[in-house]
Amino acid sequence: MSASRVEDAIIAEARRLGFATAGFAAAGDASGTDIFNDWIAKGAAGSMDYLHRHAPLRRHPSFVSPSVVSIVAMVARYPVNPAPQAGGFCMTARTADYHDVLRRKLRLLADFIKAHTPVRTLRICVDSAPLPEREWALRAGIGWQGRQGQIISPLVGACSVLGFLLVDIPFAPSPPMQNQCGGCHRCVDHCPSRAIEADRLIDARRCASYLSIEHRGDFTDAQQQHLGKALFGCDICTAVCPWNDRATAPVMQELCATSEPPNAEELLQLTPETFASRFTGTAVMRSGLNRLQRNAAALTLDILKKQNQSV
Ligand code: SF4
Ligand code: SF4
Repeated sequence: MSASRVEDAIIAEARRLGFATAGFAAAGDASGTDIFNDWIAKGAAGSMDYLHRHAPLRRHPSFVSPSVVSIVAMVARYPVNPAPQAGGFCMTARTADYHDVLRRKLRLLADFIKAHTPVRTLRICVDSAPLPEREWALRAGIGWQGRQGQIISPLVGACSVLGFLLVDIPFAPSPPMQNQCGGCHRCVDHCPSRAIEADRLIDARRCASYLSIEHRGDFTDAQQQHLGKALFGCDICTAVCPWNDRATAPVMQELCATSEPPNAEELLQLTPETFASRFTGTAVMRSGLNRLQRNAAALTLDILKKQNQSV
């Protein structure tokens, strides 16, 4: 099999497994390290301490896997939130946990590659290693980075999730995709807490997605304002992207939304047992019942305050 046929065969198999496409990049120094470190230094990562600890490892993928030569990037499409301003649960929390779904499919893809080539897959990464995933998706030609930081492409629009194989032989690198945001600022303009900054970075301290999923502890009054109507995540800046309407790849079957999640009142009634039976297998399990009920209590309190003010 010639090199290009290997790459084409991998892309075809990735698509057969439900990914929108795949791309290839040569392992090397990460280029966005200084911007990332400045973002952390000014406190914009909030309480995500692991980002501080892992920052030195993000400089080169060999810190994740010492023998890595190439990175194979895969992208999958998830559904656009039809009512992002309504808050509640983001789309990736309403379906099977994408981390598990993509990891399972990447194992199948790694088996396919092993069966057809002498390539060894050294590591599978789905938001699970100190790998600057968006930079590697850019370098593998998967899309461009939108102003809200998401990987965008004409295939998937802005509702994309990423997975990676770190492998031990060179592949022909895919050409990078030109940024096609043009003069659009919709994601920036629609963010209710003005959390989107320059350099495609988000100030996590003002972002409802971070506050509802990652933030530990109680909320200050300002944080409660930024949380808005979010119970778990926020889809506003991805749902408003005009590229969603032009996307041509199908949504990955396993990532189609399933049922409507509980509202704040129902969440406050959950016990550890009912929480597990409702959310096992979804991304919500990653943040746990306490944070979910903290969010529900904050939202309920906010509604009561507004009702009292209007009386
Ligand atoms: S909404 Fe506009 S600026 Fe934001 S990512 Fe999409 S095209 Fe780019
Ligand atoms: S996820 Fe929501 S709060 Fe965070 S940057 Fe996007 S629109 Fe703003």
